[in-house]
Amino acid sequence: MKTSFLALGLLMATLHAGQPYFQQHVSYDITVKLDDEHHTLSARESLVYTNHSPDTLSFIWFHLWPNAYRNNESAFAKQKFSQGSTRFYFSSEEERGYIDSLDFQINGQSLSWEFHPEWNDVARVHLPAPLAPGDSVTITTPFFVKLPVVFSRLGHTGKHYEITQWYPKPAVYDRYGWHPMPYLDMGEFYSEFGSFDVTITLPKEYRIMATGVLVDGEEEYAWLDSLSQVADSLFALDKKAFKQAMKSLQGGRKRSSKSESGDERERQWKTLHFHQDRVHDFAWFADPKWLVRKGELWLEDSTRRVTLWSMFLPKNAELWENSVEYLHDAGYWYSKFYGPYPYQHITAVDGDLSAGGGMEYPNITVISSGGSKDLLEMVIMHEVGHNWVYGILGSNERDHAWMDEGLNEYTNIRYWEKKYPDRNRAIQFSETLQEKWHIAEHVRMDWAMNYLGYISRALPGDDQPIELTSSRFDRANYGSIIYGKTAIFSRYFQEIVGEDVINQIYHDYYETWKFKHPYPEDFAAIVRTHVPEGVDWYLKDVFQTTNTVDYAVRSLGQGRARLINYGSLAPPVPLAAYDREGQLLEQRILPGFTGEQEVAVPASTARIALDPAQRLPDLNLDNNFSRHPLKVQFLFDQPDYSRRMVYWLPWLFGYNTYNRLPVGVMVYSGMVPGYDYGISLVPLYDYVHQTMAGFGTVKKT
Ligand SMILES: [Zn+2]
Repeated sequence: MKTSFLALGLLMATLHAGQPYFQQHVSYDITVKLDDEHHTLSARESLVYTNHSPDTLSFIWFHLWPNAYRNNESAFAKQKFSQGSTRFYFSSEEERGYIDSLDFQINGQSLSWEFHPEWNDVARVHLPAPLAPGDSVTITTPFFVKLPVVFSRLGHTGKHYEITQWYPKPAVYDRYGWHPMPYLDMGEFYSEFGSFDVTITLPKEYRIMATGVLVDGEEEYAWLDSLSQVADSLFALDKKAFKQAMKSLQGGRKRSSKSESGDERERQWKTLHFHQDRVHDFAWFADPKWLVRKGELWLEDSTRRVTLWSMFLPKNAELWENSVEYLHDAGYWYSKFYGPYPYQHITAVDGDLSAGGGMEYPNITVISSGGSKDLLEMVIMHEVGHNWVYGILGSNERDHAWMDEGLNEYTNIRYWEKKYPDRNRAIQFSETLQEKWHIAEHVRMDWAMNYLGYISRALPGDDQPIELTSSRFDRANYGSIIYGKTAIFSRYFQEIVGEDVINQIYHDYYETWKFKHPYPEDFAAIVRTHVPEGVDWYLKDVFQTTNTVDYAVRSLGQGRARLINYGSLAPPVPLAAYDREGQLLEQRILPGFTGEQEVAVPASTARIALDPAQRLPDLNLDNNFSRHPLKVQFLFDQPDYSRRMVYWLPWLFGYNTYNRLPVGVMVYSGMVPGYDYGISLVPLYDYVHQTMAGFGTVKKT
């Protein structure tokens, strides 16, 4: 049954595109030397470009993305400035970067090329003879990169290197033609699959991790193994000794790195050759101070072993203590959700990235320290997850960012539910606040990370459709809509169709589109193969419109209930009926509807709930319940929308010279998204004048 589904999915996608699927291929051979005194790369690239398209090509668009950091005219610089960030705009020449010394050649003949009229980091390279369908061409060029300090993704911080988007790279040519694009901070990438042979020369003391595996790398791997044994023994120390060891490592390293930067001739260098097939990018990261930890992941139903590497700074060692576990679990669950991890290692390195919490590259992810262990796990899991959605399923991230970010964020919710089934979706942002003080202890990961953001944009009508190219999003919507809205609606879709169907969809998507370039219509075709009817609300309305849903219970009578949808998005919705004791009498899924509707319920129904699991990204979750038993909660915790949540906290903030410090409590209800009201009362006792001196607010949205 599985195979027939697969064939059908592929057939439909191909028919939809109107022509047989094709994909270009690029194999790269790059030699590069890092100069860590001047923070530059000297390199030579040779690439074989194979034209599998039915078209004859007379030129190739190349991305020269280090030029994004050249001046204030780049698309990157303009985007940053328009977002109100002036750090790059006012940066010095010294801090900026560029790529130059290019001389594209075929068979020793220099090619003519010019920059894109608008973008200084995109160039059109003319071929001396047209490249016919099925033909290949070998193009070579030297290149020199001055590394910027880390403004976005490529760069260095002192002697910490993040070498990403660094080499001349053909843009994608697919069924929709060429996709040249400038580098952007907000807005990701699209690249051709191929193979990489990258030979890197750098000072010996650096720990270096990259896409791919080392060819003849026994010596280097043995050294990394010995470093991981050192780290293991450090982690075996008691807490106090461990802290001291980390402190001395930080101090000691600083001194030694100064002496390392001495005479060039005294330095020891190493040259390492990395190789990887079936990837569409190559990144590498190097730091002389990282601690190294190693683990392994055995893939289920397979004898294949994946090596796990985690590299982090001593100052972050405590937070990163369980990082190998996060790599393992992300690799394990994503292999189950999509399909087996096809490469040989999964690596996370501690970065200094300013583009966000982390950034993904094939096999390797760079992570900025999270604020708590849960947050670090979230970021590592998310970035490792990108090996599937963007890495293996190589969609156009720039134009359809939901296909990597949104689906990944949705899979994050699945991971959290699978790994922590007894935590009821809770996540810990702050160990002190939640564990020690029990404030917001049960806040749900999907509520906090996705629902709040989406509702805060959708309620005032500030949202945008998911299906837009990245540069058209405002910054808040990029996160709240592409990530948040896609994630919670996809999780809700799972609630409606069931986990088995979701597994079929994602396994089919993986098998059909692995190492290819799926488009939204290809994903939709796979979904429709498994859920042939009643999916337009998800595939069309959720992705292409800003329609919202607000189901509500109007009234509950004898054996019937009046329901209403105040919105125009009409997903199916589970309806649950309970008796006077709160026992579930019946639960069924109602087809989606707009406007008012009357439905039958069992005669003894005393209370009904729409979406009792509180999964629906409903503008007002409070009105999904016919009655709300009272629940009193100190300060704040995850709202249970089926209850009338009343929060209280001691109020000590009323000081003024007249009343001095009145004592009292603040009592509030509503206030957060999911409610259409907010009430707060602060009855205060003014002990100076021995009277009540409170205040209250009521708001209705
Ligand atoms: Zn992401």
